[in-house]
Amino acid sequence: MRKTLILSFALLALVCTARAQDASTDSLLFTIKPLGNNVFAAIAKPKSAAGSNAGFVIGGDGVAVIDTFQDAAAARQLLGEIQKLTKLPIKFVVNTHYHLDHVTGNAVFAQAGAVIIAHKNVRTWIHTENLKFFGAGIKPEQKAWIDGLFAPNVVYDSALELFLGPRRVVVRFFPGHTGGDSVVSVPDANVYFCGDLFWRKTLPNLIDGTTDKWADSDAKLAAEGPKAAFVSGHGDVGTAEDVLEFGRYLGQLRAMVSGAIQNGLAGEALTSGVLPQLQEKYGSWDFFDHFAKRNIADTEKELRGEKKIPQPAAE
Ligand SMILES: [Zn+2]
Repeated sequence: MRKTLILSFALLALVCTARAQDASTDSLLFTIKPLGNNVFAAIAKPKSAAGSNAGFVIGGDGVAVIDTFQDAAAARQLLGEIQKLTKLPIKFVVNTHYHLDHVTGNAVFAQAGAVIIAHKNVRTWIHTENLKFFGAGIKPEQKAWIDGLFAPNVVYDSALELFLGPRRVVVRFFPGHTGGDSVVSVPDANVYFCGDLFWRKTLPNLIDGTTDKWADSDAKLAAEGPKAAFVSGHGDVGTAEDVLEFGRYLGQLRAMVSGAIQNGLAGEALTSGVLPQLQEKYGSWDFFDHFAKRNIADTEKELRGEKKIPQPAAE
């Protein structure tokens, strides 16, 4: 009953297997979903090596891509699918954050001529913070793989606008998931690419999360685009209500864990005390079996002030 394990050793083994295959004879690792006005989501197929969602916007004189999957073969497939739709160059790639399931295909697009853009923390964290997903026993070839990830070559602090001819694409920093997350919005199409600030009906990875700020970011995005399409980092494309529902998950998780702490629970006793409550409300969400216990434990650490989250590099 293994679900797709984000950023896990098991999935990395799968990725290596997928690499060895010829991508051109495989079916696509993702599903392209047109969102109108030449904006597209690329939704990872369940358990596929793509590992996360991506997307792209075709403008007047070029294309902007959002995220590059966990596997270079998936990125090459995406490049091929875009080139079937347009002969315009791919000018920009935006990485919504540093996690390796969103950045592994950067080099594919850089070689095709794209500038790789991200929040300024991503440029460092892509090569430092990604190491932790392999644990203390990281192998030399795994370290070499992380060292070789293509880092963003344009970075920003709070907001940036891209122009594809007359078409405007807005890139903004939002806190909560890692401390280096971008939301990419396309105002003339009313589409938001949320990266991992939004997981649709899917339990999230909270490893770097600050859940109160994260829920606030979701509330702001939903309020800004009540009729918009929201592309999640994991799960399907959603609505403003889905984004709010995800934010409520974070709020309810905090409330449950906080109540358990007040009742004197800690550690494994706290996790097993909270798990049935969480199961009752969210047991049907994807990744529940994989992330529920870890979400509870991460939130306990966060509420006790013991959580280690990524810090910006000194400038
Ligand atoms: Zn992700």
